[in-house]
Amino acid sequence: MKFSNIEDDIRSIYNQSSCNSGCSYEIFVQKFSESVDYELINVEVDVQVRVIEIARRFGYLAPREINEMLLEWRKDGSCVHGLDSMTCPCGCFEHDFDDD
Ligand SMILES: [Zn+2]
Repeated sequence: MKFSNIEDDIRSIYNQSSCNSGCSYEIFVQKFSESVDYELINVEVDVQVRVIEIARRFGYLAPREINEMLLEWRKDGSCVHGLDSMTCPCGCFEHDFDDD
């Protein structure tokens, strides 16, 4: 991505990352942040800094922050989406209900 108009470019990544109604904000944040990181590959550092600054207003988290978030959730017994067996729409807990 060229990032000619950073605000517009971030907004378009934001829209692409937006989930359907069943999707949690936590899942969105991971999708959005991963997409931003991907678009920053081969982008000049000074542009990267500005992109991240603006992306943060849209909810962007750095990979390190996402890892910390995932670790917190694991401690709480949540899945990678920050949800529990009653709320995760992605089937993370399906194996919990399997009969062996
Ligand atoms: Zn999940």
